[in-house]
Amino acid sequence: PNLNTVEEAARFMQSHDRFLVLSHVNPDGDATGSALGVVMILEQLGKEYVVVNEGETPVKFNFLPRFEQLRNLSTQPLDETFEAVIAVDCADESRMGDVRSLFGSGAALLNIDHHPTNDGFGSINLIRTDAAATAEILYDVAVAAGVSFNEELALCIYTGLLTDTGGFRYSNTSPHVMEIASQLLRYGVKPGEVAERCLEEITLAHVKMLRLALQSLEMSHENLVASITVHFEDFAQAGAGRDDTGGLVNYCRNIEGVEVGVSFVESEVGAVKVSLRARDRVDVSAIAKQLGGGGHAKAAGCTIRGSLQDAKGKVWLALGEALGVNSNE
Ligand code: 5GP
Ligand code: MN
Ligand code: MN
Repeated sequence: PNLNTVEEAARFMQSHDRFLVLSHVNPDGDATGSALGVVMILEQLGKEYVVVNEGETPVKFNFLPRFEQLRNLSTQPLDETFEAVIAVDCADESRMGDVRSLFGSGAALLNIDHHPTNDGFGSINLIRTDAAATAEILYDVAVAAGVSFNEELALCIYTGLLTDTGGFRYSNTSPHVMEIASQLLRYGVKPGEVAERCLEEITLAHVKMLRLALQSLEMSHENLVASITVHFEDFAQAGAGRDDTGGLVNYCRNIEGVEVGVSFVESEVGAVKVSLRARDRVDVSAIAKQLGGGGHAKAAGCTIRGSLQDAKGKVWLALGEALGVNSNE
């Protein structure tokens, strides 16, 4: 896609009056922090907005400003068609889910994202694949828009940085990330509190889900791949929701000697959410893309229609090719 500058993105925000602000389905800290960060910028510019997600945003992000304004389209339908749209952390329009129905093909669309698999669906495309988080790009947009930083805006951006770098640990933690994180602390962000809410605190249902998931651990591809499987019935047994499966895949990737960790989560009967985490040898975004999803070299995902068996077959075959080994044992 042809890429635009932060100044063009800032001008986009200045030149329209009312916006639809959206992120991706099953929003994470970067999606939510960036969407609410956009909201904080729009408020300072005196603009009107509606901030929408296809589903419910995890309550753990309720410390973010304007959290209560995040509209869950599945329970609060919206009878409006928007002319100006800002999409954050979405690699393609399918990541918007049903929110895509709120605007037509002629809408002005600002696409702010950091995924290498972004297909440039916007009319303005601010895509930086070297950014650790969409929130990192948004920091520059806020500067270009001339808004003043305060604790609330800083908190939104910090949350995106913190969560997409796994707590400033992943290889995407660049000097620039640390520089702006340091700056954001000066606006009053309390790092211990944000980390507690985003990274440390887990629900009891999550731990029960983890107990079930770990029992399903499988090693394959000459022990280069570790995977766990969550069956649809496990959600009811653990009293868990979709949010309670986040991070399970990391246990697989973290096993010594493992190159790729995979989780297969049967999120509904007939649909399997696949999460992939890589160490060094495999670019999992290529595998996810091949299976209809996308993501980053070291963290990617897709949803496969079919049974757990079908999904495993497809992913294992692709991983066998990428690793150059047989999938069994
Ligand atoms: P997760 O496994 O945590 O859901 O996602 C890991 C990464 O892959 C994230 O950057 C996320 O945006 C991306 N990703 C996950 N699922 C999909 C998908 O179905 N389509 C696309 N394009 N990206 C995905
Ligand atoms: Mn995201
Ligand atoms: Mn992101």
